[in-house]
Amino acid sequence: MAGGTDQNLENALVPERINNLHALIDTVPDAMVVIDNKGAIISFSKGAEKMFGYNEAEVVGENVSMLMPSPDREAHDGYIRHYLETGERRVIGIGRVTTARRRDGGTFPINLSVGELIIGDDHLFTGFIRDMSEQRETERQLHILQAELAHVSRITSMGTLANSLAHELNQPLTAVANYVEAAKDLLDQPSAENIAMVREALTECAAEAIRAGKIIYRLREFIMRGDTVREIASMSRLVKEATALALVNGDGRDVDFSSRLDPSCDSVLVVPVQIQQVLVNLIRNALEAMTDSRTKRITITSRPVDGSKVCVSVSDSGPGLEPHIAERLFHPFISTKASGMGLGLSICHTIINAHGGKIGAEPSDMGGTTFNFTLSSAEVDEEDG
Ligand code: ADP
Repeated sequence: MAGGTDQNLENALVPERINNLHALIDTVPDAMVVIDNKGAIISFSKGAEKMFGYNEAEVVGENVSMLMPSPDREAHDGYIRHYLETGERRVIGIGRVTTARRRDGGTFPINLSVGELIIGDDHLFTGFIRDMSEQRETERQLHILQAELAHVSRITSMGTLANSLAHELNQPLTAVANYVEAAKDLLDQPSAENIAMVREALTECAAEAIRAGKIIYRLREFIMRGDTVREIASMSRLVKEATALALVNGDGRDVDFSSRLDPSCDSVLVVPVQIQQVLVNLIRNALEAMTDSRTKRITITSRPVDGSKVCVSVSDSGPGLEPHIAERLFHPFISTKASGMGLGLSICHTIINAHGGKIGAEPSDMGGTTFNFTLSSAEVDEEDG
């Protein structure tokens, strides 16, 4: 049968083609990992060897989850099963920013794209992995710059505001001062007519004071308006991106990083970049606290609280808080670091407060510190939906 011969020839060519392809892929600096439908590694490019620190021979046949930190490490078999059973694509053909784990246990940010390959009966998945450490560092610098810019422009507009405020408030305050002076003079001769005039002056005084109050109230409204549009965001996505952002420059190299986020409270109502900033600050603080620690672990967890809130915790295995710092932890300019500004936690406090949440710290069960903060959940109850 002609068809059968073609097929045989085709099959005979497959290994050779794959070899050629391998040689080609080895020239690409990004990593490429091919796995079968059970998650076992079939091919590991030179780029992957360099990125993860394993030789191809060591990893072929092993489960690809060894290249991931928790919780993906435990959940990855389930991801594949879910896709094969439902066809629902969560990463295939979409790509995402996530975190990978090197041979030495260190973690680093990656951009992962997954493709699907069906050869005969074999169902394979190809993962293309780009190390984002450098790109993330650039983005982080950009973020810092943007934040500084926003701060400068806020100060400038504050200056303008302060001028117009002084100008607007000056009028009612001068009026109040004049009325009070006049009333004082009138009271030196307390005739019935003068007392009536004093009453009138005080009524005017009260009206002017209320006017001044309204000016201040308007100003507060103006300042509060700012860039605080909240939207529904995925906590796991915020954590993934913030982690990638915080672990730049190989800072997470020797840190065992994991997250256990409760999927039942994944949707939160937040200003995403602000919550990322909180997470980045807390993760960087944890990294800095563990500089001299032998065990370096960071765990991020989430759980629903009080029905409509989500509590997020960032825990580390560092030395814990210095006692004298604990009670003024969220005040600005409190720092134990030689080059610390002592602003990170006070910014976190302001952001979480503006979200209607609370932030606090306690000893962690890993011997270090746990920072907890709450946010509003955006999960809709089934019956409300
Ligand atoms: P900075 O990092 O510039 O010092 P922060 O406001 O972020 O400012 O932190 C204030 C201080 O809180 C730090 O200097 C440190 O002493 C303490 N701190 C923050 N996070 C941790 C942590 N995870 N473990 C131990 N101490 C911490």
